[in-house]
Amino acid sequence: MKKNYSIYNLPENVIFCKKCVVSNQRPQSTIEFKSSNNQKKGIKFGKDGICDACKYNDKKKVINWKEREKKLFHILEKYRKNNGDYDCIVPSSGGKDSSFTAHILKNKYKMNPLAVTWAPNMWTEVGLNNFQNLSRVGGVDSFLYTPNGNLHRYLTKKAFLNLGHPFQPFMHGQKIIGPKIASQLNISLVIYGENQAEYGNDIKDNEDFLMNSDFYSCKDDQDITEIKIAGSSIKEIINDTDFQLNDFTSYIPLKKSVISNKKISMLYLGYFEKWDPQECFYYASQNTGFKPASERSEGTYSKYTEIDDKMVPFHFYTTFIKFGIGRATHDASQEIRNNKINRDEGVKLVKKFDSEEPNKYLKEFLQYLDISKDQYLKTIDSFRSPHLWNFDEKSNKWQLKKTVF
Ligand SMILES: [Zn+2]
Repeated sequence: MKKNYSIYNLPENVIFCKKCVVSNQRPQSTIEFKSSNNQKKGIKFGKDGICDACKYNDKKKVINWKEREKKLFHILEKYRKNNGDYDCIVPSSGGKDSSFTAHILKNKYKMNPLAVTWAPNMWTEVGLNNFQNLSRVGGVDSFLYTPNGNLHRYLTKKAFLNLGHPFQPFMHGQKIIGPKIASQLNISLVIYGENQAEYGNDIKDNEDFLMNSDFYSCKDDQDITEIKIAGSSIKEIINDTDFQLNDFTSYIPLKKSVISNKKISMLYLGYFEKWDPQECFYYASQNTGFKPASERSEGTYSKYTEIDDKMVPFHFYTTFIKFGIGRATHDASQEIRNNKINRDEGVKLVKKFDSEEPNKYLKEFLQYLDISKDQYLKTIDSFRSPHLWNFDEKSNKWQLKKTVF
């Protein structure tokens, strides 16, 4: 067997972007319910050594945002109801980005949005407060959707053990819940915040303001028991456990014909409003009662990004193990692109925080998944790709073969 290979089918030769601190190991978003394995496609790099996310960010600087804003007003006219009904859904975590999205749609664009939240695995106190403040302070109606907790917990455990991705069932739910609720309430517009392509999908994905419907719907002839969650099909899970098909209602995406009959569209606000996470934070602080955490999140220096779920530190720690890309790399890359810090500062922050092991919520994480610490550590080690990691016998520690510093 080859010694220097990626378990995830990513490039064997690790390179880092010359502008930010991300490497070519950063995977692009996948259609969660179609993949049963870990094979990924990485962010693209140009011949100049610069990643697609940085290239797109340069493009953003020359976009005529006033024109885009006008275009959005024009599009929204088609959906505006003005009859007391909701006219759009904003999938929301209660975080700064979705709070910004929901609030600006209501106040600047004069829409009547309903924020829809797929409940976090394990709320943090600050996250729960921010979620409540979107309606209590920000004045936006909000709808909390909580899936079957026994099944969600089972799926999260399976996703961690099978894929090294404990956040996958949550991401699956979060992507499909907006359109599902839209369909049930006869609302035909769903508005997301920023396009995932801002962070490294194909740059051409940013040229369209509509989300590709493959991310949230399936073909009409799709056998729903073949839908994949946590690396297994629904059928396999039903065979192995006491769960039944009806337990999976919230995880089953809409059919394409429902999307077309009800004319449901998903659009990105980030196509029309220049997206800057730090500015979203300031906006949400002023308008929706959003508060940062009292201390920085583990694995990074930031206090206000994805702070609502105790699962998040483990999500980023597993991306660090699988791809060599931790939470500080995500935060620093984004802040370099938005001119908040320079690359040298970013490199230092990555060196200081990226490899930090999450400890604060470890006990709760192990309890939630019902696994021992030993099983946790063994699982973590099983996802270290040989082309990224080396076990140093002397220090008795795993080390990254190549880093940005
Ligand atoms: Zn870059």
